[in-house]
Amino acid sequence: MRILLIEDEVKLRESLAFQLCQEGFETDACANGEEGLYYIRQGIYDLILLDRMLPGLDGAAVLSQLRREGFQTPVILITALGSLEDKIEGLDLGADDYLVKPFAFEELTARIRSVLRRPRRLTSSLQLSIGDLTYSPAEQLLKSASGQCTLSGREAALFEAFLRNPGQTLTRELLLAKVWGMDSEVEDGNLDNYIHFLRRRLKNTGSTVRLQTIRGVGYRLE
Ligand code: CA
Repeated sequence: MRILLIEDEVKLRESLAFQLCQEGFETDACANGEEGLYYIRQGIYDLILLDRMLPGLDGAAVLSQLRREGFQTPVILITALGSLEDKIEGLDLGADDYLVKPFAFEELTARIRSVLRRPRRLTSSLQLSIGDLTYSPAEQLLKSASGQCTLSGREAALFEAFLRNPGQTLTRELLLAKVWGMDSEVEDGNLDNYIHFLRRRLKNTGSTVRLQTIRGVGYRLE
């Protein structure tokens, strides 16, 4: 798990980064919003810890910008402002959770784990394309030149997991966690069923995009 920490208070940044590393999270840290956006655009983070009050581009601006650019990376806002309005504003801007300073480090790691356990869906209205296919998350619609079909919720979540990690082989464990959630008691065979459904959908659209089995590892969209 790789975390990006954007926090301008030096002491807090250094101590959080150190403790997160101790907890086993790969952590990168930076001190302002512009630099934060630069890091975010590398697309390598599983979670962003974002301070609300930053010099220059503040946390709210960073959050709305990254959501506008289509990044669905979970964000936990960290802030000294604890009023209800601020919380609502943060969540409206697309934060996944909210933590008010000062907080115990255990509280932060609990929130991180909880946010990372939530299955994520793309909510972007943008069309995404892979090979000869386009996909609209909002309608869960797959389209190619020769056909189209609408995915069920679970099929869409599975397909989106591949779209978010283009060219990568995704392990069974990762897919189960991303689509069903780490806490759920899903049977292993469920994943095979949905891989089968998704393959049939891809075939029905007439697309050349295929879901390959990578033996002993998982699956990859090609
Ligand atoms: Ca600050």
